[in-house]
Amino acid sequence: MGLVVQKYGGSSVADAEGIKRVAKRIVEAKKNGHQVVVVVSAMGDTTDELIDLAEQVSPIPSGREFDMLLTAGERISMALLAMAIKNLGHEAQSFTGSQAGVITDSVHNKARIIDVTPGRIRESIDAGNIAIVAGFQGVSQDKKDITTLGRGGSDTTAVALAAALDAEVCEIYTDVDGVFTADPRVVKKARKIDWISFEDMLELASSGSKVLLHRCVEYARRYNIPIHVRSSFSGLKGTWVSNEPQGDQPMEQAIISGVAHDTSEAKITVVGVPDKPGEAAAIFRTISDAELNIDMVVQNVSAASTGLTDISFTLPKTDGHKAMSALSKAQPVIGFDSLRYDDQIAKISLVGAGMRTNPGVTATFFEALSNAGVNIELISTSEIRISVVTRADDVKEAVRAVHTAFGLDSDSVEAVVYGGTGR
Ligand code: ADP
Ligand code: ASP
Ligand code: MG
Repeated sequence: MGLVVQKYGGSSVADAEGIKRVAKRIVEAKKNGHQVVVVVSAMGDTTDELIDLAEQVSPIPSGREFDMLLTAGERISMALLAMAIKNLGHEAQSFTGSQAGVITDSVHNKARIIDVTPGRIRESIDAGNIAIVAGFQGVSQDKKDITTLGRGGSDTTAVALAAALDAEVCEIYTDVDGVFTADPRVVKKARKIDWISFEDMLELASSGSKVLLHRCVEYARRYNIPIHVRSSFSGLKGTWVSNEPQGDQPMEQAIISGVAHDTSEAKITVVGVPDKPGEAAAIFRTISDAELNIDMVVQNVSAASTGLTDISFTLPKTDGHKAMSALSKAQPVIGFDSLRYDDQIAKISLVGAGMRTNPGVTATFFEALSNAGVNIELISTSEIRISVVTRADDVKEAVRAVHTAFGLDSDSVEAVVYGGTGR
């Protein structure tokens, strides 16, 4: 029996009852002979509540203090979980990210893990304890400041620890039975996927399927750590995410893995940009110097009479303020007319490696949207994904229409959502 890393998301430990239920499950794994390392998220919507609180005090809080605040959420859940396990007669010790050796760069609010030195965790489990680690946090290598890994970052903590400790498997426990062909909160007829490749999961995750964070999948692929996504509320088998199917996992992946949607992005349009070399470079250098990432980009055809064009791009809403103020400051140098900000957009993506070899996927996708009366504002594609931007109001309808058009609807069971508020 080897070492397992189990991660429990916020909805699984939303209250005292949840913590006690999870503690029992952890103790079961220990009783089955495993060494157990647990990564835990903040209880319920604690992180969102802390963010709301910070915004009431300061519209653009300092990154360092913001991280210090947010990591408090995981400190609460890790200590309570360790107490609940001890109450069941088993030994447990809780550790902050820093104590667990999660070393990051110093980009506050979205730090990257650069090393994991889990000496204290190894000592603790070798001494017979269950180790509980606070997810989503680390310590920066150069400044020794507390950092966070970006929303949903506990998934990454879990996989990074699994890799550093050479775990057999990384189990991600959440409030649904696995990875589905669409978000079960939106599509009741979504189907549970038994096995999905890292490649398709990466694409789903980066397109907004928040059941796994994309950085976590990236990490798992790099270190070849199989992930088992499952519910902490049911005893059912979940979804295996790995390079190749194993054991009783299906031998082949479907042509289309699923439909993802994302309402966390905003669109910025830079209006009246001189249509000459170097302009796009100047705009995106400004964004990059502010340490912001963009997603989709579209440049309109310029009107011949004016020699001016518009450039639109999408980025996380949380970076919207920063991007707008960086571009405003650079306006005199870059020389555009004005900026427009739109946060009422949604991105809908269709993902599947089978797209490479199956013609007609794009046509069916656009037809489904058009039949549902959904207007498309931006389009981007990769080899195994098509994404469009639409109005936020249309998102549910669009996802359901595409899901049905690709024959993904389940004709038997309805997807169950066991907990969480979907926030
Ligand atoms: P946790 O608190 O366990 O980290 P999250 O809220 O981060 O949970 O992720 C689980 C949620 O992800 C589900 O409740 C579901 O609404 C959402 N989700 C989005 N897309 C999918 C998908 N394709 N399959 C399963 N869940 C999905
Ligand atoms: N508590 C953090 C969040 O809500 C990290 C996580 O849950 O993974 O984003
Ligand atoms: Mg999550």
